[in-house]
Amino acid sequence: MSKTPESASLRRLPSVEKLLSRPELEALSREFGRALVLEATRAQLGELRRETSEESIESGLSRIEAAIRARIETAVSPSLRRVVNATGILVHTNLGRAPLSEAAIAALAEIARGYSNLELDLETGKRGSRHRHAERLFAVFFPEKKTLVVNNAAAALMLALNTFALGKEVVISRGELVEIGGSFRVPDILERSGARLREVGTTNKTRLSDYASVIGPETGAILRVHPSNFRVVGFTESTPTADLVRLGKERGLPVIEDFGSGNLLSLSAFGLPEEPTASESLASGVDLSIFSGDKLLGGPQAGILVGEPSRVEACKKNPMARALRVDKLIYAALEATLSAYMRGRGVEEIPILRMLALPAEAIRARALALVERLGRVGSLEIDVQPGASFVGGGAAPDAEIPTWVIALQPKDRSPDDLLEALRRNDPPVLARISEDRVLLDLRTIHPDEELILEKALRTL
Ligand SMILES: *Cc1c(COP(=O)(O)O)cnc(C)c1O
Repeated sequence: MSKTPESASLRRLPSVEKLLSRPELEALSREFGRALVLEATRAQLGELRRETSEESIESGLSRIEAAIRARIETAVSPSLRRVVNATGILVHTNLGRAPLSEAAIAALAEIARGYSNLELDLETGKRGSRHRHAERLFAVFFPEKKTLVVNNAAAALMLALNTFALGKEVVISRGELVEIGGSFRVPDILERSGARLREVGTTNKTRLSDYASVIGPETGAILRVHPSNFRVVGFTESTPTADLVRLGKERGLPVIEDFGSGNLLSLSAFGLPEEPTASESLASGVDLSIFSGDKLLGGPQAGILVGEPSRVEACKKNPMARALRVDKLIYAALEATLSAYMRGRGVEEIPILRMLALPAEAIRARALALVERLGRVGSLEIDVQPGASFVGGGAAPDAEIPTWVIALQPKDRSPDDLLEALRRNDPPVLARISEDRVLLDLRTIHPDEELILEKALRTL
């Protein structure tokens, strides 16, 4: 008879009261408060009660106490954790997109710590608008335009459509009705804004005449979505933005561009395929351009609406703008980020741009040095080989940036298991697999983080 009957196991479990009066749990109560300890103790005993194996019941009081401590420590620690991004994907939405510049972090801390003039005009002592903060800096990049900052690009799009096309139609090409990232589907956002979708053309071809033929009294706006994370290749035709702008002007309709990645600088400066910059998007004459703050701009999560002053004013006056507004921390980080551009120090100070600009040779030298410091790791074959980094996050979808990667071939487990082991490191290291090897790209790893990576590999 190897199995203990459940009733016998239950009898052997200590009571909550007995556990709580033991020194270890009394110490826990002093550290974390009695309520948390009580809850964790109940949960732990409940779990043991559900288990029938003799082994778990026999585990002894000190093991039960250790399990209670572990429970509490997990419960009180944040679930949002720092990770090391070894994927080489610069704007990785799952990993929180752009790391902030030191100046942005300092500004965040300063504004977070105390009070600020968020909505106060220090000249007059009267109430001011929070919008003026970022607007003042954006005006340097977009002269004669106005700017509005909201929660993210999806919110900006929602606000623009709600402002100009509530109960009306928004004309959009079928080639641009896309899903951007896991949860951003242009048609869904569009309908929730209160506008009706009016699709024109086909997936691969949409001509100016397609737009022109559906415009009527029901039309509220024309929308163009920048193909940021997809390309329609082959037999294609899309209407040049300039033609849409002319059509919009003729019919008195705003042309809104969902521009996506929001690069203020030309990507060709980084050896990437030419993509229009935010100012070029506006120079084409669109009424409103919408982009994210935390992609290639390299700032905090935000949605930037830039455009014709009267159009931006209309968005600002929409009561929905109040529901989508950003807090002081976002302005603090955004202003510090924009200031780096203004001082011509973007590539030096803004992590996304700095990583984008790293020459492959410099990454190779760091990878070789790291592998040399590491020496032999019994369970791994380690090589440094050419590879590709990616912009990610809806910018230049097919552009590969030459890099060098540390390629790991595990001897005692599958690449998936190795990937998982790295993910369980503290802090977690995120890598990717290609051709049965686990690849680590130092482009997205700050030199300060190399030691973490080194230790993680050594303990494998
Ligand atoms: C990334 C992206 C969005 C979504 O931006 P969020 O700031 O995450 O809301 C919308 N449109 C395009 C074209 C994008 O690339």
